[in-house]
Amino acid sequence: MKGGVALLVAAFLPIVAAARLPRNEPVPGGVAVIELPATATTPRVYFDGQRIMVVKYTGHWYAIVGIPLAAAAGTWELAVRMTGPRPRQIKFSVLPKRYPEQRLIIKNPQLVNPTSAELDRIEREQAHLSKLLDTWVPDRDPALAFIWPAAGPETSGFGLRRFLNGEPRSPHSGIDIGAPRNSPVRAPAVGTVVDVGHYYFCGHTLTISLGQGLYSVYCHLNKIDVKRGQAVEQGQIVGSIGATGRTTGPNLHWTVSLNGTPVDPRAFLIGTSDTSPAVQKR
Ligand SMILES: [Zn+2]
Repeated sequence: MKGGVALLVAAFLPIVAAARLPRNEPVPGGVAVIELPATATTPRVYFDGQRIMVVKYTGHWYAIVGIPLAAAAGTWELAVRMTGPRPRQIKFSVLPKRYPEQRLIIKNPQLVNPTSAELDRIEREQAHLSKLLDTWVPDRDPALAFIWPAAGPETSGFGLRRFLNGEPRSPHSGIDIGAPRNSPVRAPAVGTVVDVGHYYFCGHTLTISLGQGLYSVYCHLNKIDVKRGQAVEQGQIVGSIGATGRTTGPNLHWTVSLNGTPVDPRAFLIGTSDTSPAVQKR
């Protein structure tokens, strides 16, 4: 009986607590949640040259590490700076994960190979977006519990390994949600709009900073209802579904980026459902 009560209390604690840890899945494209040694001051953590998110949860420090899709399985190291002069190395294991593959054949190569002017534009835009997503923003309490941003089915999964006419292309950096044009798109969590733009691949694009190097990027939007610098609440309508940029029809491409690398958004979604839940409001 007592055990039952304790279990019940334990089950409720993470929901009541303001902070919540993301799902720990130490695989390429996943998020590793690594407990750090006890220390009075906030540790500074680096992985692969990038500053890493650190949060305090139930009295312990945790590093929240986004693992690149291209990372090899094996032992990796975090550099942890605490009070001493030298960083301490903390090892962690990355496990293998094989994502599904998709093979597409397109007969007209002009449709798949951009011109040199387009390539210049793509390069400029990618440099701009990478710089933005590499930026570590101080925030004591980053938003780690997301809601699903649009009502609709997942039409393409994160990490999908894509081949076009037999040639490997970059793996899918987000989740695609299919919905009719002009359906509302909501902020996944409380944050700040840091970029609004129109890009070659992504079309009308909105980027929200959620703190400490965690970002949500929405692509192919038809309309954007918020401005750069604006604070947004979880569930707030920030734009509408569209088909702008390189896409075959109306859908929301949703990338979640952590320490400069795209990760599976499901690591931060409330609940563990494998199917897209209906839009939830706080
Ligand atoms: Zn996509």
